Amino acid sequence: MTEKYFATGGCLCGKVKYSISSAPVRMGQCHCDDCRKLSGTGHVSNAFFEKKSVLISGETSNHDSVTDSGSTITRYFCPECGSRLFGINSTNINIIGVTIGTLDDSQWFKPDFIVYNKRKPEWDFMDESIPTFEGMPPIQK
Ligand SMILES: [Zn+2]
Ligand SMILES: [Zn+2]
Repeated sequence: MTEKYFATGGCLCGKVKYSISSAPVRMGQCHCDDCRKLSGTGHVSNAFFEKKSVLISGETSNHDSVTDSGSTITRYFCPECGSRLFGINSTNINIIGVTIGTLDDSQWFKPDFIVYNKRKPEWDFMDESIPTFEGMPPIQK
């Protein structure tokens, strides 16, 4: 049991835990209507990883919603405490988004971009040095 993980995390009640074995492929923040609703605040911060490097234990519930571009995002949460943990977009099911607030240590997080800035509430202050898009830019994979 000497395996070294890039990061570990879990939900509030501890029934869902995860460990990640490689660095993120990208990191971002989103202020869209869906992200504000599901986070209960001004934005969601995500790091995106190759799905095969994220090991999840414990059962999750999920909810599908359709994005502006017509893809489907499946979001996974703990059925016990409601913590929102993961998201997978139908455009690339090999990538999983992990909600930064569920990490045991998130000090390394630095968003590469901020999207849906046009939906950002004025009270939600962001680092102005981060590339910011009013909507969703075309994502390069
Ligand atoms: Zn939980
Ligand atoms: Zn969003």
